[in-house]
Amino acid sequence: MTSTATLTARPTESTSTPETGNGGKTCPSCGREHFAWSATCDTCRYRALPADVRRARERQKWQHRQARIKSGGSRVSRAARRAIRASGLCVYCGALADETDHLWPLSRGGPDSPENLVPCCGRCNRSKGQKLLNEWTEWDRVARGLFFSERVQQEISRLISEESATF
Ligand SMILES: [Zn+2]
Ligand SMILES: [Zn+2]
Repeated sequence: MTSTATLTARPTESTSTPETGNGGKTCPSCGREHFAWSATCDTCRYRALPADVRRARERQKWQHRQARIKSGGSRVSRAARRAIRASGLCVYCGALADETDHLWPLSRGGPDSPENLVPCCGRCNRSKGQKLLNEWTEWDRVARGLFFSERVQQEISRLISEESATF
């Protein structure tokens, strides 16, 4: 029964939105292949919007971006991050933790989850930056983290298993 359903559904679909070889559609407006739900691509649909709507969307996007930068690039709730900061001192140096650090940096594919966050001071956070723990040459701070934080231990284990997997 499913085969008949797809056979009858296919032609009606393809008349409005011609499918390309990769499973995408060809935009009737710009001719590019895209994967949006509509016939026209996202870019063309966006361009077709009134200027004031576009401006409002840009502003909103900018505000969201600013909020994300302010929050240390995390979508984890403020309350959750506050709880992580309050859970201890900076795992790397023992100073007062006024920030949270993504152990596995977001920019390197790390998850934006509370499990990937540790209490951290601003100085260590800036020093570590986008580096993985095995790339950060402040070994004394990494060692302290290993000693005091289970999360740091887990991240090191992950790095070791990843490294051995490439051999
Ligand atoms: Zn288009
Ligand atoms: Zn620190």
